[in-house]
Amino acid sequence: MEFCPNCGKVLTLVKKSDTVVLVCKKCGFEKVVEKAVTQVASKKKAKVPTVEKEAPSEEEVLPTVDVICPECGNNKAYWWTVQTRSADEPMTTFFRCTRCKHTWREYG
Ligand SMILES: [Zn+2]
Ligand SMILES: [Zn+2]
Repeated sequence: MEFCPNCGKVLTLVKKSDTVVLVCKKCGFEKVVEKAVTQVASKKKAKVPTVEKEAPSEEEVLPTVDVICPECGNNKAYWWTVQTRSADEPMTTFFRCTRCKHTWREYG
């Protein structure tokens, strides 16, 4: 229960078109209690993770290629391709160093 800050009388709940207000019947004081829930419900957009596809867990099945690791200089790396974004774009080739597990991608 709430009381009018002006005159101390008990405030009455009154529903208006789009709000609920507490009204003092003695002096006319009004206090907005809550806004009516908007008609348009906020749609929760499912966030699509933009993280690129992780490397396949079974590295043993991945083919290896002779490529120099930019991290440790090892000349052997697993490789696989990932189709990014749209099918219009070319496949991206990923490499993972067989020694230090550093992963990088081939540009162009
Ligand atoms: Zn009042
Ligand atoms: Zn390496």
